[in-house]
Amino acid sequence: MFVPFENVRIGTFQEKNQDPDILSSTADIVKHLECLAQKGTDSICFIGTGSDPVLRKDIFEILDFANQKGFQRIKINTSARYFKDKKHIFEFFKRGAFFFEVPLFAHTPSLHDKHTGEMGSFRQAINGLKLIRKNPIHRRMNYRAFLQISLDTNKINYQYLAETISFCFTFNPDRIRINLRIPEISLSKIIPDLKNSLECCIENNCFPIVKGIPPCLMQNYEYFLYDFYNKCSGIPGNQYLDQCQTCLYFRICPGIPSEYIEKYGTKEFSPVLETTLDMSCINYLLKNPDP
Ligand code: SF4
Repeated sequence: MFVPFENVRIGTFQEKNQDPDILSSTADIVKHLECLAQKGTDSICFIGTGSDPVLRKDIFEILDFANQKGFQRIKINTSARYFKDKKHIFEFFKRGAFFFEVPLFAHTPSLHDKHTGEMGSFRQAINGLKLIRKNPIHRRMNYRAFLQISLDTNKINYQYLAETISFCFTFNPDRIRINLRIPEISLSKIIPDLKNSLECCIENNCFPIVKGIPPCLMQNYEYFLYDFYNKCSGIPGNQYLDQCQTCLYFRICPGIPSEYIEKYGTKEFSPVLETTLDMSCINYLLKNPDP
């Protein structure tokens, strides 16, 4: 079972942001962390809005405070482009920030840079990923980062999914998360490649996780569905079919985007009436539906 991280959305600059969910000043961030600690939150994830959280001048001050508050897991969503060297990475490790989530669009500079719109971003990200994997030893302590690489697939890069995943193994990731951007892709087109890619991850001791696909299309692979564990039922813009009422996964399934149904119809979806999955897991989720 995944323990979700509480997202802390931080702006790049220490200026007031129009969006109240984006924290800008050091004081506001510290106050928010204080509230989370009081609520008993144990895992937090810093997400940069507009830019990379690593670029904030006060990032170490914020991490020091989070560390003092005793959060068990501190994660940073980062492009990995701005890590300068081993020492710089160590500054994160030493403040308890061992979890890194790094997005990668493709396995080649041309595809990746085209997607980010910035020449050289691929090379910089690769350097950063290598630095994260340096795992420094300091005062006899062996620091090891938990590295998750996230791949957003769309109609351009899904055809290179297998190559991109193989490339990710260079960095020995702990987890690869594949975010499917449906309805840009017909699911029946991507599922064979997707299942092969999951198998490939497992063979390479890397836990794969897929976001954005109804479980009826991924039978025998349910353990790898993000939405399944995170009970993402009732997502706005998603819908269920009449026959979904009889599906074993009805209250766990994220549903199907309406746009997808308009574009590709409903033929691909049919209720799951039996499963080989451990029933205690399903029963737990069914007893604990979304609030
Ligand atoms: S049949 Fe419906 S409820 Fe069941 S997994 Fe598919 S989309 Fe979800």
